[in-house]
Order: sequence, then C-alpha cells, then structure tokens
Amino acid sequence: MNYQVAIIGGGPAGYSAAEAAGKAGLSTVLFERQNLGGVCLNEGCIPTKTLLYSAKVFDSARQASKYGVGVEKVSFDLPKIIARKQKVVRKLVLGIKAKLSAHGVTLVQGEATILSPTTVQCAGETYHCRHLIICTGSQTVIPSIEGIDSVNYWTHHQALECKEPPASLTVVGGGVIGMEFASFFNSLGTKVTVIEMMDEIVGGMDKELAAMLRADYTKRGIVFLLNTKVVSLSQNKQDVTIYYEHEAGTGSITTEKILMSVGRRPVTRGFGLETLSLVTEHGRITVDKQMRTSQPNVYVCGDLTGFSLLAHTAIREAEVAVNTIAGKEDAMNYRAIPAVVYTNPEIAGVGETEESLRQKGVRYHVSKLPMSFSGRFVAENEGVNGLCKILASEENILLGAHILGNPASEIIALAATAIEQQLTVDQWKRVIFPHPSVCEIFREVI
Ligand SMILES: Cc1cc2nc3c(=O)[nH]c(=O)nc-3n(C[C@H](O)[C@H](O)[C@H](O)COP(=O)(O)OP(=O)(O)OC[C@H]3O[C@@H](n4cnc5c(N)ncnc54)[C@H](O)[C@@H]3O)c2cc1C
Repeated sequence: MNYQVAIIGGGPAGYSAAEAAGKAGLSTVLFERQNLGGVCLNEGCIPTKTLLYSAKVFDSARQASKYGVGVEKVSFDLPKIIARKQKVVRKLVLGIKAKLSAHGVTLVQGEATILSPTTVQCAGETYHCRHLIICTGSQTVIPSIEGIDSVNYWTHHQALECKEPPASLTVVGGGVIGMEFASFFNSLGTKVTVIEMMDEIVGGMDKELAAMLRADYTKRGIVFLLNTKVVSLSQNKQDVTIYYEHEAGTGSITTEKILMSVGRRPVTRGFGLETLSLVTEHGRITVDKQMRTSQPNVYVCGDLTGFSLLAHTAIREAEVAVNTIAGKEDAMNYRAIPAVVYTNPEIAGVGETEESLRQKGVRYHVSKLPMSFSGRFVAENEGVNGLCKILASEENILLGAHILGNPASEIIALAATAIEQQLTVDQWKRVIFPHPSVCEIFREVI
C-alpha cells in the first residue's frame, strides 16, 4: 500500500500530524499500537486534569462559607470521579477519530515496525510512504533503586485508577506529575509526602513561585523532603518503607502507597528506529527547525524529540513537519512554550526564568506584584496569595512571565503570545485587557 505520509504513534504529535496531512490533501496512514490519543488523552493531560477538577470542586464546596455560601455535608465518591474521567477520555478520543476519518486518514491498529525510511510494516501488511513522521512518545522512567522490584509501587497508571484514597502516599519526584497527584490526594484527605532530589519542587518553573506553592501545600499538610535521595525500598505486609538520605543523614518513612514520578524518557526501541541510523546528539535524535532528521524524508515530533515533553509542543512540532512536507514555509521555535502545573492554585510560566537567564549570563529586569493587584483575582480568591512576575531584557523586550494563582493556565497564553512576538513591554502595554479580569495583572506588573 502506498501513502504520501506515514505516521507512527497516535498521540498529540501523531494525530495532529495526521489531521494536518489529511487536511492538506496528502494520502496519510497513522499507526497506533494502543489507544488513539496517546499518553496525553488516555493517561496524561486529560485524565489528570479531570480528576484535579473534581478535587477543585470538592475543595471549593468545603470552602464555600468563605464566599457566604452554606454547603452541608460535602463528600466525594472516588469511583464516580474515576468513571467521569473515563467518560471524558472516551468522548475526546471519539472526537479525534471522527476528525481523522473526516480528513480521510487511514488508521491502522497495531505495532508498526520501520523497515526503511520509506517502508513500515504493521498488522501483517507492508506500507510504502514518501514521508515518514515518527511520534512514538515517551514512557515513565523507573529508577533503579534497591528493592524496587519487590515493592508494589504506583506509576500514574495506578494512581489514575485508584478507587479508594490511600491513608498515606509518598510521591517520589516532586516534578509536575508528582505535584499534580500530590495535590489531588491531599484534597481527598490522604497524608502526602513528596520526596525530591533537587532543592525545589517543580524544577524548570520559577523558583520563587515554586517555593510559594510548596509553602502553601505545606500549610495544607503535605510534607516535603527536598535534597533527598531515595536509596532503598522494602515491602511490608500492608505498606512500604522508603529509606532515604539527605544532608542531615539518613531516614525512613513508611507509607501505604508509593508513586514513582521521577521523569519520562523517549520511546526509541523495539520498532526498528535503529535501521534508520539517525544522527543523535546527547542521546536525542537531531532534528532541524522543520523537525527533519538526518534522513531527509524522516521527521520526528513530540516527546520522542526529548525537548519539552509537553503535548502542546508535540502538536506544534507536528504542524511544522506537515507544513514542510506540504511545501509551506514553517519553522519550530521553543522561545515561548508555556509550562503549567495544575495544582490548586496553578503555577504557570513561559519563556525564560530568572534561573535560566542567570545561567546564560543575560542581564534582565524583574517586575513582580502580588495577584491581589487584580480586582477579579481578589473577588474570586478569598484569602489566597499569588504572584505575577515579568522578566524583560535591558532593551525592554519581554523574556519571561510567571504566575502563581488561578487561572494561570489560561492567562499564560497571553504572555506566550507577547514573548513569541518579541514584543517590548511598551508594545504589550498598548493591548487592551478586559476589566475586570485576572489577566489584567500583566498590565499592572509591567
Ligand atoms: C500523568 C501525565 C500528565 C501529563 N499532563 C500533561 C499536561 O497537563 N500538559 C501537557 O502538555 N503534557 C502533559 N503530559 C505529557 C503529555 O502527555 C505528552 O507530552 C504527550 O502525550 C506527548 O505526545 P506524543 O504524541 O509525543 O506521544 P504520546 O502521547 O506518548 O503518544 C505516542 C503514541 O505512540 C504509540 N506508539 C509507540 N510506538 C509505537 C509503534 N511502534 N507502533 C504504533 N504505535 C506506537 C503509543 O502507543 C502512543 O499512543 C502528561 C504526561 C503524563 C504521564
């Protein structure tokens, strides 16, 4: 069978590439070995945010009296929360299926194997293509800690299907995924401990805001062990003991459940990628700004590139690859990729952080204000603190924006647009923001 474009992997990168290629009138085949939608839809972005929204509703109901609203006997039903999550996932996956079929994409269910830059085998058939886009995504890293094979640890898979909140949960890895689950189970009353090897949680985000978020969750009962390395694990009858070491020496903690969330790594093995002998750099496949590899007809997009491990990056990379194939000029740039941690409050950032600028030796100005400078924020966030921080170059060009406070995930897109367009502070200030809105905080800060 002959196609102009063959795509391996039906996650955000793969399905976006397939949709765009179909729309561009290119004959397209998409191979997916598990579930269309990939990690993002089935076990990542969407399911976690669905659970977190239930936790937010629960928290809001418990705090309703702060807003003069009486709510009696607030409770949650975890099996119902999980069932709703499954319903949301099913609906969105069906939506993607419908879009792909509307654009004439052939969907093949099965594990694809690359035979050559123009040949892929799947489900007993051989497919020939002019262009190959590889989007096999990433998988959870399980660290080689002594005793790990003898304990019943959770990854996000088990955490997403949990029907009864554990009495205690230790999250190993205080990154984005770890903190989102820590927040979820904290809301449900689980005693949560987060063990993080670095000196702050949510690495990569603005450190000052991350510390504020940590202080907030500390008040809500989460215990954080920073600069702490897990050295061994042992399974007891009902629980797990975690042995760790940090500056002050060694220690241990016994917990009902343990969630491993130390990171993700690209899926590069087991499907013939090595037959292409692609050029790599520091273990990553080298791609140009059009997402082309060292094989000119082979493109790599999404988590497989190992650049940002975010769904929206994957989607944009896929667009760039397909535009290139379709002969439209396009190029990927990573200057303004928003990053969000969907805790409550959310923390979001885009562009440079103070830490990244210092590392690069770039001189910059900082402007920051508490979120209470936004009237709408005050109206909707009784007794909640937050911070907005903007970084600009000496020439006053916007370099970075960081927010702790809801709805950071929504308003960060405004800052992303400004940074992507390389606006100066003065140019951004001329944009009219609706009043009252939380995003007005940007105008206040600059
Ligand atoms: C718990 C969790 C929460 C997350 N939350 C967010 C979030 O809020 N926001 C965000 O931006 N990102 C989030 N992410 C990350 C996001 O899910 C990924 O960045 C995104 O899914 C990457 O898309 P992708 O298309 O590159 O890969 P994937 O989504 O991993 O898809 C790859 C697909 O390729 C298929 N595949 C692999 N090999 C083959 C083969 N040989 N043949 C056929 N099919 C194959 C796989 O089955 C898979 O479906 C989260 C991740 C996790 C785990």
